[in-house]
Amino acid sequence: MTLENAQGVDTPVFDFDKFGFDKAIIKSIKNESFSTPTPIQDLAIPYVMGGSDLMGIAQTGSGKTAAFSLPIINKLIDDYQKPASHKPKVLILAPTRELVMQIGKFIEIMSRGTPIKNLVVAGGQSYQPQIRKLKYGVDILISTPGRLIDHMGSGNVKLGDCQTFILDEADRMLDMGFIDDVIEVRKSLPEDHQTIMFSATMNEKVRKLSAELLKEPEYVEQERKTVVADTISHRLMNVRRKDKLALLISLLQDEAIDKALVFARTKLGADKLCDELKAAFEGTDMRIDAIHGDKKQRTREKILLNYRKGRTKVLVATDVAARGIDVEGISHVINYELPIEAENYIHRVGRTGRAGVRGLAISFCDPSDVRLLRDIEKLIKLPIEVDEEQRFHFDISDVSDFKKGKRTRAKGPRSPKSTSRRPGRDFSARPEKRKEKPYKSESQRPVWEKNEKPARAKKAYDPLQDSYQLGAAVFGDDPVLKKLHGKAGKIKPAIPKAKKTDEPKGKREKLYGKKSEKPAFKEREKPAAKRREKPKDRTSGTQKQTGGFSRFSPKGKSSARRSG
Ligand code: AMP
Repeated sequence: MTLENAQGVDTPVFDFDKFGFDKAIIKSIKNESFSTPTPIQDLAIPYVMGGSDLMGIAQTGSGKTAAFSLPIINKLIDDYQKPASHKPKVLILAPTRELVMQIGKFIEIMSRGTPIKNLVVAGGQSYQPQIRKLKYGVDILISTPGRLIDHMGSGNVKLGDCQTFILDEADRMLDMGFIDDVIEVRKSLPEDHQTIMFSATMNEKVRKLSAELLKEPEYVEQERKTVVADTISHRLMNVRRKDKLALLISLLQDEAIDKALVFARTKLGADKLCDELKAAFEGTDMRIDAIHGDKKQRTREKILLNYRKGRTKVLVATDVAARGIDVEGISHVINYELPIEAENYIHRVGRTGRAGVRGLAISFCDPSDVRLLRDIEKLIKLPIEVDEEQRFHFDISDVSDFKKGKRTRAKGPRSPKSTSRRPGRDFSARPEKRKEKPYKSESQRPVWEKNEKPARAKKAYDPLQDSYQLGAAVFGDDPVLKKLHGKAGKIKPAIPKAKKTDEPKGKREKLYGKKSEKPAFKEREKPAAKRREKPKDRTSGTQKQTGGFSRFSPKGKSSARRSG
């Protein structure tokens, strides 16, 4: 918001005064060059200040961190008392190490000039410094669930003084299987505490969790025109499975890519794809890495650092591993395999098109993906434009519908090959073999065809000869295809079942899932006063979205939340 002053020069209106924040906080807000609260801040701050429980629906980029942090810091400053040893006054739980660190940095910046002390505790860090600081006393503890439970178990954290409990990205918590830990933590909180929950989406599982955790909550939601940020362009590439790798390699050569994030469905798939790309680009300066849950924390951090610094251009990731990725400058998200859960599409593509900079999301679609694609388009309320120019394009509607492992022909003339069954067939009338589209320019020619000594790459990556076998070897064991086609037995599984995905399994069904359970409130209505009974089992769900709010001050961009 701007006002014209006497000289006709636009000056921003400072609109944070209305909340009555302490002057130290106002100073920090000004230092960050925030002038106007975001919509979610406008809605949520008064409720948090007033002490109500709150359910907020807002995505990353909406300013939700400030929406809960600023009033919390303000409340602590009012009538400040030094925290007791091991007893934080505010607990913030978030699903990933990266996210807790971002929240910690933001709180650090916003509480400058105040006595407020915060501490971030997360896995992968040494315990001793954390224990020392906890003993000394912290006002705000920001933690991932696992590490918090560890500290609680050894008596380093006691929640008896905790007045405020904040659960950020609740949908991701559910998705990552942390729900039992969250419930466990909640049991240790004093009866009379305030709970604030934020989630990117409001689905059935989040509703059930909110019914479990919140007392007479207020409900706020950030209005969004589109589900995904309009800074992201979407492109669909119809490609046969056997040609996927060749298409990816040619894209990585052709496109003006700063940083690409390529999604595979499984950890094994991500590793294999990474190896194949490395082999294909051997001898070039293209650096490729893979990140997934089987890699050690330290290795993951190193991989991310290289990616963030631009040393790695292509990062192959699984859905869960990618959740911790908050990296600037990702120009391309490539869905080598479409996500099984449509919601994950939003989550994946949200890694690009950030801070008002445009990004491109390219999705590969083979005939078996059509159903997944429909779900995605329904969710994002947007038909994804098909790129018919890419050289592996084919009309997917010409291809059979796969049902129970059988491929039935789509409408159209009978294949000329069928003449072989007829007596007296004319061999000279045999159709010509299907020709690949020629390269549009020499620069499009794949690296393995240009390479002087391409022995290794050529062997593995000639799309016209070997990639079919390669594709079958790598993805013939695709668990999703099995599921979709309902003929698991037909494909020899090469991936050991239990280790196929990053998704934490096992715990999921435990707490929620009873259809009969109704949420404590309807969306946009004031929730019912009574709390629900503790649910008996649970399900999971996730969605992370970007978009909607795009008010980024230049300073805001370089602030702690962005430095990741
Ligand atoms: P978040 O949704 O919490 O991840 O915040 C996204 C980004 O917006 C962060 O870099 C914040 O520093 C920034 N931000 C938060 N509130 C405001 C505001 N009122 N004006 C401008 N930028 C903001």
